[in-house]
Amino acid sequence: MEKRLSDINTIKNILSKHGFTFSKALGQNFLVNPHVCPRMAEMSGAGNGIGVIEVGPGIGVLTCELAKLADKVTAIELDKRLIPVLDETLGEFRNVKIINGDVMELDLHKLIEEEFGGMRVVVCANLPYYITSPVIMRLLEERLPIEAITVMVQKEAAQRICAPVGTRQCGAVTCAVNYYAEAEMLFSVSAGSFMPPPKVDSAVIRLSIRQNPPVETVNEEKMFAVIKAAFAQRRKTVVNSLSNSLHIEKQNVTKALSESGIPLNARAEQLSLEQFAAVSDAIFSE
Ligand code: SAM
Repeated sequence: MEKRLSDINTIKNILSKHGFTFSKALGQNFLVNPHVCPRMAEMSGAGNGIGVIEVGPGIGVLTCELAKLADKVTAIELDKRLIPVLDETLGEFRNVKIINGDVMELDLHKLIEEEFGGMRVVVCANLPYYITSPVIMRLLEERLPIEAITVMVQKEAAQRICAPVGTRQCGAVTCAVNYYAEAEMLFSVSAGSFMPPPKVDSAVIRLSIRQNPPVETVNEEKMFAVIKAAFAQRRKTVVNSLSNSLHIEKQNVTKALSESGIPLNARAEQLSLEQFAAVSDAIFSE
């Protein structure tokens, strides 16, 4: 069954049998390249003794590869039209549970406790692109007891997330993700691997959750506000963007930068996480 499931004609038949039409608003681009899901599942850490949370199983192409490797897979699907489809495609797997719900709304701590109590847990998903960053940030910020997040995202987002902090490609999301996890690019996936094909290519990335943050700050929330403000006007100097976005006197920002040993003409993309933490502590300890 699982071999047939990744075949494009099988997928078309299943979808037409259920009268399914794709929802663009829900980011429904289903994988039809049979090589991608086994590779993703393998690299996600799914295996003996591991529980997997999947976001957006679609018709279950990735789910079944995860179910072959992991002890248990719990998949969260928002579109209720897909529930009968998943019942049909995944019926043979005793270790799969589908939850009809919104990943942004569900209590994920409770879900992990109830579904996997005591098991090691990883996340693996081909994420709906309209909420890539919110989903990733929610999974990280909630400090869930998970070991890794392996997700397919738009290639540009993957490059941004995996860029080293302090380089031109980096953005606020790079710094935020880096605080919680080590990000690495795994492999690229062409637009033609999906039905319907999206406008851009995709890539699979893995975020390995850190046990401890790489930098110390007095107030995490304020540090993230500083990072966001610094990148909000990334072409400007940090002095100007922080003073404009956070409504802080320029001379106070200048003082904080000097105390942190940061050149006054520096731009956000040139700062390390340590420097963001230092500036934030200097500004907010006044
Ligand atoms: N995993 C399937 C695959 O690779 O073929 C489908 C991936 S498709 C890019 C994204 C899936 O996420 C769709 O099935 C969509 O209905 C679902 N989805 C969209 N928003 C969601 C949300 N907020 N919570 C849970 N699932 C969501």
